Amino acid sequence: MGKKCVYQFGGGGAEGDATMRNVLGGKGAGLAEMSRLGIPVPPGFTITTEVCNIYQDTNGKYPDGLEQEVHAAVGAVESIMGRRFGDPENPLLLSVRSGARDSMPGMMDTVLNLGLCEKTIPGLTAASGNERFAYDAYRRLHQMYANVVMKMDGAILEGLLEEAKDAKGVKLDTELDAADLKALIVRYKEAIREATGRDFPEDPNDQLWGGIGAVLESWNVPRAVAYRRINKIPEGWGTAVNVQAMVFGNLGDDCATGVAFTRDPATGDPNFYGEYLCNAQGEDVVAGIRTPEPINHQSMSPGKGGTTLEDAMPEIYKQLDGIRLQLEAHYRDMQDIEFTVESGKLWMLQTRSGKRTGMAAIRTATDMVEEGMIDEKEAIRRVHPEQISQLLSPIFDQKEKASAIAEGRRVATGLNAGPGASTGKIVFSADTAVEWAKRGEKVILVRVETSPEDIHGMHVAQGILTARGGMTSHAAVVARGMGKPCIVGCGDLDVDYDAETVTSGGQTLRQGDSISIDGTSGEVLAGQLVTRPSEVLQVLIEKSLDPEDAPLYKRFAKLMEWADAHRRLKVRTNADTPNDSVNAVAFGAQGIGLCRTEHMFFEGTRIDAVREMILAQNEAGRRKALEKLLPMQREDFIGIFRAMNGRPVTIRTLDPPLHEFLPHTGDEIRDLAGKMDVSVEHLSSVVESLKESNPMLGHRGCRLGIAFPEITEMQARAIFEAAITVQKEGIPVEPEVMIPLVAVEDELRLQREIVVRVASEVMKEMGETIEYLAGTMIELPRAAITADEVARQADFFSFGTNDLTQTTFGLSRDDAGKFLPMYVESKILPADPFVSIDRAGVGELVRIAVEKGRKTRPNLKIGICGEHGGDPASVGFCHEIGLDYVSCSPYRVPVARLAAARAALEE
Ligand code: PEP
Ligand code: MG
Repeated sequence: MGKKCVYQFGGGGAEGDATMRNVLGGKGAGLAEMSRLGIPVPPGFTITTEVCNIYQDTNGKYPDGLEQEVHAAVGAVESIMGRRFGDPENPLLLSVRSGARDSMPGMMDTVLNLGLCEKTIPGLTAASGNERFAYDAYRRLHQMYANVVMKMDGAILEGLLEEAKDAKGVKLDTELDAADLKALIVRYKEAIREATGRDFPEDPNDQLWGGIGAVLESWNVPRAVAYRRINKIPEGWGTAVNVQAMVFGNLGDDCATGVAFTRDPATGDPNFYGEYLCNAQGEDVVAGIRTPEPINHQSMSPGKGGTTLEDAMPEIYKQLDGIRLQLEAHYRDMQDIEFTVESGKLWMLQTRSGKRTGMAAIRTATDMVEEGMIDEKEAIRRVHPEQISQLLSPIFDQKEKASAIAEGRRVATGLNAGPGASTGKIVFSADTAVEWAKRGEKVILVRVETSPEDIHGMHVAQGILTARGGMTSHAAVVARGMGKPCIVGCGDLDVDYDAETVTSGGQTLRQGDSISIDGTSGEVLAGQLVTRPSEVLQVLIEKSLDPEDAPLYKRFAKLMEWADAHRRLKVRTNADTPNDSVNAVAFGAQGIGLCRTEHMFFEGTRIDAVREMILAQNEAGRRKALEKLLPMQREDFIGIFRAMNGRPVTIRTLDPPLHEFLPHTGDEIRDLAGKMDVSVEHLSSVVESLKESNPMLGHRGCRLGIAFPEITEMQARAIFEAAITVQKEGIPVEPEVMIPLVAVEDELRLQREIVVRVASEVMKEMGETIEYLAGTMIELPRAAITADEVARQADFFSFGTNDLTQTTFGLSRDDAGKFLPMYVESKILPADPFVSIDRAGVGELVRIAVEKGRKTRPNLKIGICGEHGGDPASVGFCHEIGLDYVSCSPYRVPVARLAAARAALEE
């Protein structure tokens, strides 16, 4: 005797239960559990997922003993229902449905009304007292069976149905009477024979096994395969097959069928929420053939009426409401349920955990803690960290967006780099963005790609759209930091700066035309859509809303408080300005993990001094320019230290390749030559000499400070002068100076010497001492591998996983957007390594560096400041390998707080 293949349920009991999802699938486990709870479910049985796996592995063979088990299970259903399968007098009809471990909505096949044939149709007619109903069920069986089992083109029988209606001059299926349907079925049988060379099976058992086989086959139809790939469902899970007694919602006006949620899945409102149709089959609700009605008044769309189930069938509604409360209390989670009312009797067909929006997830989780259903830890597990970011992003009106798509206004789709929705006028340059914004226009900056020079334009834009770039491209990183909606790598866009047009899919939009981008989904739409700032932002950032008037904010704050109580990892932020710092603190940041000093170099007129410094031909010239920069940098740091109020602040010395700061156009060079009092020719040749073939691997990072120690000197001075100034104001400070792109211990030793020397000089000059740390970024494989040596010079490590990923893979972070999606699509890589840390490669280097670093210096403080610091899966990794903190953009801080708590709870 082999393994048990079939589990029965119904009649107030079940062989399986809710814990057996892996074997019975989600639907089967739910049906078994409901039956055990005494909830009315049509009796039936589940064929296990293991049978599916055997079927796939053996090219369509069933395991030994399955036939006998199915036969016995059908017998059990017959005795509960008091009808026999294939009985000409009072036939039992069966449905066959798929049901994988996780729901794969509509991806696999279903056959209803099995058991109807020429021999049994009179029995159904007699039992239902409704000949039209019986022939309609028979017609539906032919259509489904021919299509799903016999693989006949569905359009053929659908066409015959249309012909029958045309011939009679009617529009609706329901206008065909029993005689019409009888004649139609004769034509169906002929058409089936003609198209498939086989007869529609008249033996109910043949029908049943045909249905079971078809459901098992449907595990491998292309749409199911694609769905599994997108949703990362393993091939080896297989689907269960649920065979169940048919109940009919279409026997008359005391019948109905519907779909409901135990709470509102959009808002989390604890009201029963759902739709139903009177006198209809379940497929009619799903297929949208008729518009369903609300089950109760709370489910009514604003301004729309309808006859509620509550009014139409008050007793049934009361029973259904009781079941929803029972199911919620039992599963301690919001459920998505399906039901059918057959001649005044309620049957439950399905229960499963309901899919919900971020808003609903937070509301449900916090409400359920209050209701005593779950504890705080479970609430933390119930909300996915990405759902938090939905609460921070501005949003489109979903109905308006759907109708815009229906009108053909979606012009392209790219990478969803910065969540949130925004709408505005197209501009193609940062300067135009600023100019237009000044006169009060809302703009979307559309570029082939962005560079640090575009920062002012990005700052004033509502959103950013680029044709090139990946998830850690400049545009993506900066936009996320600013909390702006952003779509990058939108390869379909053809941006023409000269013509000031962007073309995609045959549509051309001009500068000034309205465009809308949904950074949460990556969709680009022509025209304007309405957006709203989120409630949480109105409280925390705009401060335009009192927390007491913000129920969603209060729930968010509560969840964050619970997360903080359970996490071990600290969460810092990547912030370059006092304003970003203030926002990050509002989001719960416990420090700054990365302040990219070069981002300040583009503000106002500073860029001139920066350019002077770069283009100076000797140290004296550089020092002169640096002197101009010192007070400006000092002011920035003062602002940041004040904003952070005693929290640690990691400031990184200059990192990017110098040419990023150079003047590019002839006008810019002429203008600067005038200011510097040198010839245009001379300046042009200096600019030319600074160009590099591979700037990302060129003269950047600590290599700049090694070549020009006076730059590091100036920056260290600005940091310490600012720190002591703020400390003198009575505000505590905790500066940490960080040296980027170190490969060799000696690089760090040399830079550290400068920092230490300048620190003691400044302390002496200002007459006050200060505590500080000097450390390094680990963002090159060599530094990771020799971390025991590097640690001799470092008080802390911070993993720059953007560059570490780039250099480990030898994959340019600015160009990867062009081909990485294809790698992910074809499963060469499981995910974009710039988004979620590559555990096996980059992660292994991180692990080695942590181990070796702490061997040299057991108390070495270690964090991460690459974009991965805000990615939930990567945060989990950082927790596992024992980092002290993660640092991410301000708007990701709440996401990281929750992810860190979930990682701690997983232990
Ligand atoms: C990194 O490389 O991960 C990092 C944080 O530095 P940047 O992105 O500025 O190169
Ligand atoms: Mg870096």
